[in-house]
Amino acid sequence: MTTDKSSKQNRNQVKLKNGKPAIIWLNVLVFLITFIIAAIGVPLYGYYSGFSIGIIVAAVLALSFCELSITAGYHRLWSHKAYEANPVVRFIFAIGGAFAVQNSALHWCSDHRVHHRFVDENDKDPYSAKMGFWYSHIGWMLREYQAHRYTDYKNVSDMQKDKIVMWQHKHYLTLVLLTNFGIPLLVGLALGDIWGSLLLVGFLRLVVSHHLTFCINSLAHMWGKQPYNDKNTAKDNPLVALLTFGEGYHNFHHAFQYDYRNAIKWWQFDPTKWLIRSLSFVKLAKSLKRIPEEKIAKAIAAQQLNKTKSKLMALSIPNKDEAIETIQKEYDLMLQKMNEFYQLKKEWLEIKTDQLIENVERSQVNSRYKSIKQSWSEQQKSWQLMIHQYA
Ligand SMILES: [Zn+2]
Ligand SMILES: [Zn+2]
Repeated sequence: MTTDKSSKQNRNQVKLKNGKPAIIWLNVLVFLITFIIAAIGVPLYGYYSGFSIGIIVAAVLALSFCELSITAGYHRLWSHKAYEANPVVRFIFAIGGAFAVQNSALHWCSDHRVHHRFVDENDKDPYSAKMGFWYSHIGWMLREYQAHRYTDYKNVSDMQKDKIVMWQHKHYLTLVLLTNFGIPLLVGLALGDIWGSLLLVGFLRLVVSHHLTFCINSLAHMWGKQPYNDKNTAKDNPLVALLTFGEGYHNFHHAFQYDYRNAIKWWQFDPTKWLIRSLSFVKLAKSLKRIPEEKIAKAIAAQQLNKTKSKLMALSIPNKDEAIETIQKEYDLMLQKMNEFYQLKKEWLEIKTDQLIENVERSQVNSRYKSIKQSWSEQQKSWQLMIHQYA
C-alpha cells in the first residue's frame, strides 16, 4: 500500500500534490453500511418482531467486551504499558479488539503513541483535535492522511515481541470476520433469534462501539476541564467518561499517560481501572503503575497557580502586581508544606511497618505527621479560598 516515495512525503505534501488525499473506500463503506443497517434495520426489526431481553443483554455484554478490549487492552496495556497482563487476558483483548474492528493492536497503538508524542500537531498527530470534531472523530480514517507511515511500526517495536499481538496483526481480517459474524450467529442460535442477534449484537453493537471509542479522540479533547495542565487540548469530563468506559478523564491521562488509572478518585467512573484492578486481585495482571500522589498534587497546584495568574493578568484592577505576588507567596508556602507533608508521610509509612523501631520514636513521628498534616490541610484551605476569589 505504501511506496518508498510516499513514505517520504508528509501529510502536507500529499495534500499539496493531490488537493485532498485519496478516499479510503473500504473504511467509508464499512462505517456507512454498518451505520445504515443499524439505523434502519434495528428500529424496523424492533417494531415488527421485537428484541428479547436475552438479545439486548448479549448486545450490552458484547459492547462492553469490545470497549474494554480497546480501553484496558489496546490502550492502557499495550500502548502505555501501564500494567502487565497474563497471556490469557492478552488473547481475550486481542479477540475483543478485532471484534471492535479498530485495526490490529499493533497499528492502533502505533497511531496512539504518535498521538501522545505529537498531540495537537496537525501534521503529525493522526487524530489531532485541532483539525476539528469531524476530523478527530472519524474523518482521519476516511482519507489517506496517514499513508506515509502505514507500515512504520518502529514506535511499537516492544509490542512486536508479544506473540499474541503479532498473531492478531497477521490474522486481523480473518478475526474480524469470524468474530463479527460468528459471535452474533452463535448468540442468535442459542437464543433462537438469528436476525435479531445479527442486527443488535452484530451491527448496532459495532456502530455504537466505534463511536464511543471515537469520542475519546474528539469529545475528550474538546469538552471538559483541565485540572492537571493546559499544555494540550485533552480534557477531563465525567460525562465523556460515562460514554468511554472511563477514558473521559483524558486531561489526567495526557498528563500521566503511564498510570493504569484515568480517574483517580474512587467515585469517578472508570470501569477500565476497576477491571485492571480486579484482574490483579486474581493474579491475571501485575505491575500496575501509579503516578505518586505527590506528583499529581503538585501538578494540580501548579495548574491552579497558572490559571489564577492568567485570570488576574486579564483583569483591569489597580493592585494587580501586588495580588499576583501574594498568590505566588501563598503558593510557595503551600508547596513547602506539601513537600514537608509528603516527606514525613514517607517516614511515617516506613516506621509503621518496621517492627524494630522503638515505640517512643514511632509515637514521635506519628504526632509530627499529624501536626504537619493538619497544617498542610489548613494551608490548602487558605489557598483554595484565595484562588476562588479570582475564579
Ligand atoms: Zn488524547
Ligand atoms: Zn493514551
